[in-house]
Amino acid sequence: MIEYILAREFQGLMYYLTACLLFLIITPRVSFIKYGRKLLFVAILALTSYFYLAYEEIDPLVYVLHLVPVCVALIAIYEGWIPGVATTAAFIWGNIFIAGNEWMPGTISSIAVTAVGIAYHYWMPSPESIKRMLLVHFLLILAYIGMFIGLSVWTGEQMELRRMLATGIGTLLSSPIVAYTYYLVKHQERLTEELFNAEKYHLIGQLTASISHEIRNPLTTARGFLQLMGRPNLDPAALERYRINALEGIDGANSIITEYLNYSKPSVEEPRLLNVRQELASVEQWIKPLCVMSNVELVSRHGTQEPLTVTGDSKKLQQCLLNIIKNAIESMPEGGVLTISSRKEDDKALIFIRDTGIGMNDQQLKRIGMPFYTTKDKGTGLGLMVVTNLIQAMGGKLYFRSKPNQGTICEVHLPLEISAAEAASLQPAPK
Ligand code: ADP
Ligand code: MG
Repeated sequence: MIEYILAREFQGLMYYLTACLLFLIITPRVSFIKYGRKLLFVAILALTSYFYLAYEEIDPLVYVLHLVPVCVALIAIYEGWIPGVATTAAFIWGNIFIAGNEWMPGTISSIAVTAVGIAYHYWMPSPESIKRMLLVHFLLILAYIGMFIGLSVWTGEQMELRRMLATGIGTLLSSPIVAYTYYLVKHQERLTEELFNAEKYHLIGQLTASISHEIRNPLTTARGFLQLMGRPNLDPAALERYRINALEGIDGANSIITEYLNYSKPSVEEPRLLNVRQELASVEQWIKPLCVMSNVELVSRHGTQEPLTVTGDSKKLQQCLLNIIKNAIESMPEGGVLTISSRKEDDKALIFIRDTGIGMNDQQLKRIGMPFYTTKDKGTGLGLMVVTNLIQAMGGKLYFRSKPNQGTICEVHLPLEISAAEAASLQPAPK
């Protein structure tokens, strides 16, 4: 009997681990969808559970004493109330209608465990403490098993006590493995997110010098006009002109600061329709001061004027473009020409970023995008890795062509969302 129960336990374990593995494989591809990712694991778990329930021989006792507590406690602790309640409801349904168990013990125990798990999720001070997570998961499962067996005995259900205990012990033994694997999956996800943010703040730090230069220019102009306004005997028309010029300068500086703050604050990640040309224009604004400082001529060439509409997160697309453009500028220490162009090809939006810099040989070309590969003293070697991930998450591709001492062309290919005609109809009608 013990072997039979163990074999069933292992079978259940395999399904959980499969769910974790699938999650690990899929998450990098959807890393720009924050809320989707939160429910992704639940969806994968639901899928694997479906296969388990549909195609495996189900032992009602293993179902209610292994699958239910392990999943319910795990999801409630890690994911919070919506996934927690959804999973519990699904398992209660499965317990009654698929496994055919008595409704009362399983329902009450799983609701109690979910409630405590969710309370812990919102209360826990640090989600990173693995020991505490394992302990809480273990204790919740122990409470579930105790409650379930107690209620079964109390309601006089026809389940053999010895089998219940054996299954319960099996569950307790395998729960740390499942909880630890899940912890690793979440931890990995958090690390990737932190890496993305670290790269972003590094980029912002590097751009700050040129941005402050950009802010100082309009402020100096505004100051000049304010000074002029102090002159005696000015005619009202000149006074008004100076006033407007001064205001324009201050507004200019203000909008640069707003853009800057917008970019640096953590973004609410929601994919929406983006006009590639608008995103490029915004990035070009950003990069102009750096070009001036680096003696680089910026040429912006955008084939047709039809909008190129793609789906994605604006901040992340801008982060990608900034990274690529910054690399291009950095490859021209003596100055040069930076050409940014875009056009439509079939169902793709193509962006080209071309420099006349130091270029790369085949060996270097193969290594770009690898974590920590950098040839710069102050480089992180993370920029292109992040770019590659984000572009892939948008369903796009990144290509580099380069010749040493001649320059580099970087191509970003993004899937177009809707046809140009449809996009045009989304634009406000000309007045
Ligand atoms: P970092 O810029 O911090 O070094 P990246 O991942 O952005 O990291 O780039 C990795 C490396 O790829 C750079 O150090 C550089 O050697 C090379 N590289 C990237 N873009 C270009 C380019 N346009 N021209 C020449 N080399 C480039
Ligand atoms: Mg870089």
